[in-house]
Amino acid sequence: MQSQTSLTQIHMIVVMQKSATKEMVNHVVSIIEDHDLRADISYGEQRTAIGVVGDKGKLDEGNVTRLPGVKEILLISKPYKKVSREYKPENTVVKVGNVEFGSGTPVMIAGPCGVESEEQIMTIAKQVKELGANMLRGGAFKPRTSPYSFQGMGKEGIELLVKAREATGLPIISELVSVTDIDLFAEHVDMIQLGARNMQNFDLIKQAAKIGKPILLKRGLSAHVEEFLLAAEYILNEGNNNVVLCERGIRTFETSTRNILDLNSLALIKETSHLPIIADPSHAAGRYDLVAPLGYAALAAGADGLIVEVHNKPDEALSDGKQSLTPDTFGDMMKKLKEMSLLSP
Ligand code: PEP
Ligand code: MN
Repeated sequence: MQSQTSLTQIHMIVVMQKSATKEMVNHVVSIIEDHDLRADISYGEQRTAIGVVGDKGKLDEGNVTRLPGVKEILLISKPYKKVSREYKPENTVVKVGNVEFGSGTPVMIAGPCGVESEEQIMTIAKQVKELGANMLRGGAFKPRTSPYSFQGMGKEGIELLVKAREATGLPIISELVSVTDIDLFAEHVDMIQLGARNMQNFDLIKQAAKIGKPILLKRGLSAHVEEFLLAAEYILNEGNNNVVLCERGIRTFETSTRNILDLNSLALIKETSHLPIIADPSHAAGRYDLVAPLGYAALAAGADGLIVEVHNKPDEALSDGKQSLTPDTFGDMMKKLKEMSLLSP
């Protein structure tokens, strides 16, 4: 009997060996049906294939692989659900105060890698606001590669960001690195950043999601698109749909820049997922002179915004000075984005 079921309902296809007997096929079918799933058999000239229809979680493909006569298993549907466009075709718009990600107007987040002093964050906040930034970034808890590097100002850094918000009206975003700081972030920040190094820290992700605040989820240094989307799926699965993804560069064989801004994945994710996605050209490039061109390219490729490191004294910065724009060069970048019609005037 030829199957009438559409491919989108089938999540697994069990391909039988050419030599598989009718008994072997029937055995596979009975195992599928024992798991409250439907088996759609397709008797081809070369081989028999069995489509598995129904709830994906009910049957582990690993168990089917071992049944007599089975050649291979083809997984059809993607492992993520709620982040996919199949689940929700229209773009998700994530609101942070009066800022909207995914509504068509790119969001510009700017600020230092780390909050270093009141004078520093206040100066930068006022300058980036003046130059057209929509949100202020600043790390207070810094996940540094070396334990001897500046680790951030901690709670005091968050309090200084709050002051900068009061002075400028810009919503604030900062990176959460530990569940112990959840209450502090719940009380003070407008958007929680989950960093590349924590993209698969699922407990942190779930606890952060439960607060219900918007989350910026950065792609892990070596994460596949599927792993990135599955990490976002954890947040949606906690009932929090306010997720913005961030392509921040990945590691490849190429070592001449800090990372590679993966615009392929950014464009692919825009197709595959309804969630907004922004780009971080600063961490991708690792050097200030490449930040602007990567930013232009990302917006041209469909990014919903950029997050850019800006420091008033990059040569004295306690972290990521090498890749930080000055307020002046950030201003040049904003001007050029408008000239290119990537930002509205
Ligand atoms: C940062 O934004 O300063 C940062 C540490 O980013 P990432 O997690 O992408 O490395
Ligand atoms: Mn940084």
